[in-house]
Amino acid sequence: MARALWFLIKVAIVVAIAVWLAERPGTVAIAWQGWVVETSVGVAVLVTVAALGLAALLYRLWRAVWGGPSSLRRYRRTRRRERGYQALTKGLVAVAAGDAGTARSMARKADGLLNEPPLTMLLSAQAAQLTGDDAAARRYFTAMLERPETAFLGLRGLLTQALRKGDRVEALTLARRARQIQPDTPWLLATLYDLEARSGDWAAAEATLEAAVRAGAVTPEDGRHHRAALLLERSFEAERRGRSDSALHHARAAHDLLPGFVPAAARLAGLLAGGDRLKQAAKVVERTWRLLPHPELADVYRQVLEGYDPLARVKMFQKLLSQSPNHVESHLALARACLDAKLWGEARTHLTKAMELQPSRRIHRLLAELERGEHQDEDAARAWLVQAASAPADPAWTCRSCGAVSRDWAGLCGHCSAFDSLDWKQPTVALHPAPADAVTGPAPALPTAIGTLPAVPEPAR
Ligand SMILES: [Zn+2]
Repeated sequence: MARALWFLIKVAIVVAIAVWLAERPGTVAIAWQGWVVETSVGVAVLVTVAALGLAALLYRLWRAVWGGPSSLRRYRRTRRRERGYQALTKGLVAVAAGDAGTARSMARKADGLLNEPPLTMLLSAQAAQLTGDDAAARRYFTAMLERPETAFLGLRGLLTQALRKGDRVEALTLARRARQIQPDTPWLLATLYDLEARSGDWAAAEATLEAAVRAGAVTPEDGRHHRAALLLERSFEAERRGRSDSALHHARAAHDLLPGFVPAAARLAGLLAGGDRLKQAAKVVERTWRLLPHPELADVYRQVLEGYDPLARVKMFQKLLSQSPNHVESHLALARACLDAKLWGEARTHLTKAMELQPSRRIHRLLAELERGEHQDEDAARAWLVQAASAPADPAWTCRSCGAVSRDWAGLCGHCSAFDSLDWKQPTVALHPAPADAVTGPAPALPTAIGTLPAVPEPAR
């Protein structure tokens, strides 16, 4: 409608001009170099318009003849890029689908068509990984290090390879380099913390752990537990270096951070008792006993009370029981003190109570000891020991990552080297004796923080 109206307006203008000229007749004369041309105004206007039209037509023809090849080149370039991106997309889809052959051929095609090394190198590396060609993947990842926009992705690829190979020294170097490029990446912080802790670099691990908690890679609760374990390891290290002040300082920091963390409480109480600060040591044990009664704490408590006579010791263990009266360990600790004081009847009462709460091999062994002590009844003692073999196993430090069982707490699992992975619980496998004090469990898994490479490249930041 608007177009038709516009056309009518244009026609009206042309007609108006023609009428206007027709109403004003006259001649136009051009004299040039002895030539004289004379014509009417109407014809002169017509000729001028025709000449302008011809000039415009000639200009367009000239543009078509001379500009042709360059626009053809432009068209070809655009087509090439389109085909390149198509190949790239197909390649990434093939990687996601695990189709190694297509991924590799598309990577080669995209590489030939596109001048986008960051994208095609990543696809090529992933295709190489899919076919199991680690050497080729490594070459691509290493080449990616040379460009600032792909260096982080290259480091991530190499880091994943190093972790798969179990080369923790190289992995640690790569993770530290990657952190210089992107300091706040959560998965990287979690991985770096794990690697530093596994390598025994406690102070560095503590600093990285703090950043990992800030970045949300580790929950605050887990962060507190890991930090207490790191402080405890720093305490052991200080003692090995003969720095007893520092050993005590770190043990106290670990205990204050997490009063329910038994290894820290046992360690602090042990150090205090060793330094003749018995009252403080007893307080530490009692504080943690309220939260979590544990045989290691009972052992330290016995050490603290060494100078007491057996009956006074029983009184102190009665006080400990009152902190946590319905726990099997409270009754076992008191029963042990009663056996030492030859209070047989009381020992039996608490062993019976412990058996009701949670039967275990340890209770059977103490009952055997009671039979020997009270009645010198070897047959009854032997009967308890026979029963002990089929009784539920005693709780032990069990690795949550590999399932290995250890008698003593340690920051690093003796089997899979995971850090702070030991829980106090009833093991599902038998406890093996020293030397390693650990049993074989399933193969260790990679830390959960390490995933596979992303299927789609991350935008460079
Ligand atoms: Zn383990």
